[in-house]
Amino acid sequence: MTRIALITGSNKGIGYETARLLGSRGFAVLVAARDETRGRAAAEALGATFVPLDVVDDESIQRAASFVEAEYGRLDLLVNNAGLIGDLAEARGLPSGTTREALRQVFETNVFGVVAVTNAFLPLLRKADAARIVNVSSEVGSITSTTDPAGPLYQLVGIPYPASKTALNMVTAMYAKELRDTPIVVTAANPGYCATDLNGNSGFRTPEQGASVIVALATGEADASGGQLWGDLSLLGTADQNGVIPW
Ligand code: NAP
Repeated sequence: MTRIALITGSNKGIGYETARLLGSRGFAVLVAARDETRGRAAAEALGATFVPLDVVDDESIQRAASFVEAEYGRLDLLVNNAGLIGDLAEARGLPSGTTREALRQVFETNVFGVVAVTNAFLPLLRKADAARIVNVSSEVGSITSTTDPAGPLYQLVGIPYPASKTALNMVTAMYAKELRDTPIVVTAANPGYCATDLNGNSGFRTPEQGASVIVALATGEADASGGQLWGDLSLLGTADQNGVIPW
């Protein structure tokens, strides 16, 4: 039976590459995006189905879930990929200069959006024989990594984006615990530092490399039991290797 996968924010970047790789693995891919023109163009290029979905808009989320229920009756894979870094000056600014608004903007998408989307699609994931949820997180959310004086992330000082991914890690761990006795596996992916619009294309990995981490989790080739942050370890000095990253 063809597995149905929905990837939020898949009109470009790591999400687009994830959609492409999942399509090549035989998934029926639903390209979820907030912008109709960009979303349709991506879906057409991939031979996938476009689903309008803005993760900060509850009505949009509900409409997307209703569409998937009507068309497919279930969902086998949800990739919570949509994310933003926020105002870069703010993100790189010191915690003492961080505003409530800057935090709210990033948390709305990267954290609240993930919970809202996950809860809307859970009834459909429960209808699958063996479903997976992959939350696209980041090593910058690892408190262990960012507080290691010998590590490359020690120089990073900023609240909105890193704290949003720390919160997303906890969100992942909590869903994994709630769903541990069900066939739904929940896990978090660290794509590594990839060249995308998110970081002004400054990353040293390709979006495809980042997406391959997500696909490994989505297909159960990595972190089969879930509940972990898994992915690129290159920032830790072990280039081209994947593994479990400490929370
Ligand atoms: P990107 O190229 O900027 O793509 C971000 C995607 O999220 C875009 O499709 C964007 O849509 C979408 N998005 C943002 N807000 C949305 C909303 N409210 N509703 C629906 N879609 C929304 O960045 P990326 O690097 O591929 O990021 C993908 C994920 O990887 C993010 O969660 C990011 O935190 C994570 N990540 C990235 C890196 C990296 O080095 N690039 C490293 C670790 C983790 P629009 O086109 O409409 O803006």
